[in-house]
Amino acid sequence: MASLSDLPIRDDLRGLTPYGAPQKHVRYALNVNENTHPIPEDVARDIVESLARAVLTANRYPDREFTTLRESLAAYLGHGLGPEQLWAANGSNEIIQQLLQAFGGPGRSVLGFPPTYSMHPIITAGVGSTWVAAERDADYEISPETAVRAIEQHRPDLVFLCAPNNPTGTALPLETIAAAYEATDGIVFVDEAYAEFMPKGQPSALTLLPGRERLVVSRTMSKAFAFAGVRLGYLAADPAIADALRLVRLPYHLSALTQAAAVAALSHAPEMLAMVDDIAFQRDRMVAELPSLGFHPWPSEANFVLFDGVEDPQATFRALLERDILIRDVGIPHALRVTAGTAAETDFFLESLASVTRR
Ligand SMILES: *Cc1c(COP(=O)(O)O)cnc(C)c1O
Repeated sequence: MASLSDLPIRDDLRGLTPYGAPQKHVRYALNVNENTHPIPEDVARDIVESLARAVLTANRYPDREFTTLRESLAAYLGHGLGPEQLWAANGSNEIIQQLLQAFGGPGRSVLGFPPTYSMHPIITAGVGSTWVAAERDADYEISPETAVRAIEQHRPDLVFLCAPNNPTGTALPLETIAAAYEATDGIVFVDEAYAEFMPKGQPSALTLLPGRERLVVSRTMSKAFAFAGVRLGYLAADPAIADALRLVRLPYHLSALTQAAAVAALSHAPEMLAMVDDIAFQRDRMVAELPSLGFHPWPSEANFVLFDGVEDPQATFRALLERDILIRDVGIPHALRVTAGTAAETDFFLESLASVTRR
């Protein structure tokens, strides 16, 4: 068998490592921020009926413009958005890839603020763009001044923000997004994968879209919506952004089955999102209880908690795995990240963490 270095691979890909969150079969999978509650059975049945109808015409290519899905997504997001402002792909990862194919590519740069979503630099490298890492303020925050300073220093073609941020859970003020937009002529991309978990009434970057044609806000059905296995991510932006993505997307990139499943699920949005409040409650419970176990949790507006004060993260990770719990070592020294699941999952995680780290 050959190894990678034996192949005529692009020079700029040599030595890179792929995305690799461990996929292990465990009872308590709290490592990739999925919604751990299953899809309600009546909703699942409705989705299957839609799929059955879609299969009957699967001899034909699907609607290349996924018109019905864009209407459903616009209705779900509200904020006065029209279907022409929506675009969808196979997960928000593909949204990011298409955005970078259109606005990045070789010779262009993307500014981000680590620690942040690990796929942002990986997809950047995949399209041959340069990832430029800027510093955050204390407590993982990004003030408008910090964002503007980094943009003026590096003059990137795209600015990537993540709100709330993965893996820290940190909120991002709209003032930072607005200031970043003013400071650049490039694309400002806000990854709102966890928006549904933000405190009620807290405004989304969607509110900033009017009059900002270079602002792109992405969402996903993978997290709050309990639909990670279907692969459906989407963005809201000026309709001209969709025109740019049409130049780089593969024709018929969203299968008829994906479209049918997503439209059916969106018609049951309240049921699909029914557990979001409970998940946020479990998240807040972990933030409240971790200090009594000797850890320091960071405030989180997402469905996970990053906590530090872990003496040996790899040892704790392994000890939890022996108890059938999978969490995430995100590479931050003395820290681990855990997804907020059901009450029972949270109980078992907290008990197990206490017993494997008792000093
Ligand atoms: C999980 C996650 C995504 C989701 O990606 P999909 O491809 O839609 O499953 C996107 N952005 C961030 C920051 C995430 O944490």
